Amino acid sequence: MIPYDLYRLLQCPTCGARDLFVTDAGVHCAGCHNDYPRHAGYLDLMPRAVEFDYVSKYVTEEEELSEELDYRELAPPLLAAGVRNRALVRMLGLRPGDIALDNGCGTAKFAAWNADKVGLMVGSDPATLFADAAVEQVALTKADSRCLPFADNSFDKAFSLDVLEHFPRDVIDAYLAETARVLRPGGRFFVMSNTSDPSSLQPLTDASRKLGRLLVRAGLYDFQREARRKSDHIKALRTWQDVLDAMQRAGLRPVRIVFWNSVFTSFVEHVLMKLGEAALGRRTANRKLRTEPDVTQSSVLSPQSSEGTHREIRARQRMRDRLERRGPAFYALTAVTLLMELDLWLFGALKSGSYCMVVEKRVER
Ligand SMILES: [Zn+2]
Repeated sequence: MIPYDLYRLLQCPTCGARDLFVTDAGVHCAGCHNDYPRHAGYLDLMPRAVEFDYVSKYVTEEEELSEELDYRELAPPLLAAGVRNRALVRMLGLRPGDIALDNGCGTAKFAAWNADKVGLMVGSDPATLFADAAVEQVALTKADSRCLPFADNSFDKAFSLDVLEHFPRDVIDAYLAETARVLRPGGRFFVMSNTSDPSSLQPLTDASRKLGRLLVRAGLYDFQREARRKSDHIKALRTWQDVLDAMQRAGLRPVRIVFWNSVFTSFVEHVLMKLGEAALGRRTANRKLRTEPDVTQSSVLSPQSSEGTHREIRARQRMRDRLERRGPAFYALTAVTLLMELDLWLFGALKSGSYCMVVEKRVER
């Protein structure tokens, strides 16, 4: 979706000019004469003639990842994504008049889930693996977070989930500085990420992990897909103090902090869900084999995807269909989501690697 209101926020990502003209094909900059094309559902506002050392693997391996990440259909916000989304809504306090930015939006699921809560929801990411629902509801831009294509003080709110841990430190500094630049003074920014800080509740988390590994050894579950998802975590901000320092450098003042010690979460993810997905995936696989001997779905996926990955994607597809109907599965998963969220309520003040925080751009006097 490219609403008119989006154009009013834009500035040229290459030269910084605000003299941009809407053309039939997209946007033209009067300053540097670059054109930024409009594609199906998003504007390409990548800076021109700029070479960066660091490029996310989500950009370089976009095509290969797109099939594995299974991104186009959006499930309701449940489980870990549900806990994240509820924390985002509760801590950031989105209002009907807000102009909000999902900075590094990925599929833009968080933007899509909350688009109806604000006046304008904008999503920005260098990779364009956008979910269909996001294309419908979110003003999407292909952009680099080191030179955002938005004017100073454009946004009331911004958010960033599972982004910072992917960047090297100089990129984090540029990312935070740009986020601060496009926020209005007093504007708020919700960040969820993780450091390498240990949690004092780690033994409890480990117990679930061990149990989960037993399931793997028993052949019930395959972690390959999960490993791939986490494969470019750098965690350049290694400690919580590093996070606070980086925010301060960007002129962002912490307002609220909640740590996520994954005690209940780890049990749910490593044990409960693995069992559930394995059971669902198998049943789906058996049914498919009986009805369609030549399964096209498998051949769509690259050969290096393991059977476990196929099984998990099948399980997810099947689960999405059920959740659409708001049946017992939906309510069961909602209950599990709330169980995971207990981690935030009970242990939110205990420092751990995973954190949610809200920071505020300083008001200049
Ligand atoms: Zn320009």
